[in-house]
Amino acid sequence: MTKALVIGNWKMNLDYVEAVHLTRQVATLLASRPVERVEVVLAPPFVDLRSVTSVLEAEHASIGVAAQHVSDRDNGAFTGEVSVAMLKRLGVASVIVGHSERRTMYHMDDAIVASTVRAVLRGGLAAVLCVGEDLATREAGEHDAFVSEQLTRALAGLEEAAQRVTVAYEPIWAIGTGKTATAAEIQAMMVTIRTRLAALGLGASRVLYGGSVNADNAAEIVTEGDVDGFLVGGASLKTEPFGAIVHACNDCYAERR
Ligand code: PEP
Repeated sequence: MTKALVIGNWKMNLDYVEAVHLTRQVATLLASRPVERVEVVLAPPFVDLRSVTSVLEAEHASIGVAAQHVSDRDNGAFTGEVSVAMLKRLGVASVIVGHSERRTMYHMDDAIVASTVRAVLRGGLAAVLCVGEDLATREAGEHDAFVSEQLTRALAGLEEAAQRVTVAYEPIWAIGTGKTATAAEIQAMMVTIRTRLAALGLGASRVLYGGSVNADNAAEIVTEGDVDGFLVGGASLKTEPFGAIVHACNDCYAERR
């Protein structure tokens, strides 16, 4: 059975003490009300990764760990960077690639996104590729073409790794703004994305939504938006809202492939 996927992207929040605390709370919550249809993943800052994986191991929790970013290089003189092999050694299973905050604030262009996806897959981890348009592109009616092009540039030629590629549709205008895309807008974009993924030989990939998801809108987006889960930012920083999103996804997700 294909499970939905809910990833909590903590961004640059929570030091390792706070990370341990939240991880324990999330593990306890999910132990008290387990989910069968959802894979849950936490994406803490680099410096918290070891603490988070240790807590999850100690608690025997079925929660995965992702990194928020990684270098596209294997090793060497790249001050400040972290490699895929380093993440793998820490028990990290997947990496978020091309988040819009990295694309817009840290000059991560399509070529670097593509080489980073390849580095992640080459290293044996799973890649969560973020795509999504800004407000001007949506208002110009060019969002479908824009996102399709982002997918092609990042994923062409990767069909053999289909099982390890997930796409997160994150319209930039909905991230951290409290303004969620409507279920109809999301559903329409899911058709666009799945059509392009199928053409790229990646039809089996899960497609998530991200952008101001919260406990109140999660069920509707899963049901009517036709998504395979969520990439959650702000609402993943507290146990109850994150747990509510996970449980809404578990209750509403119907396997479709
Ligand atoms: C994100 O940054 O990936 C995100 C979706 O953030 P938020 O949920 O806060 O909009």
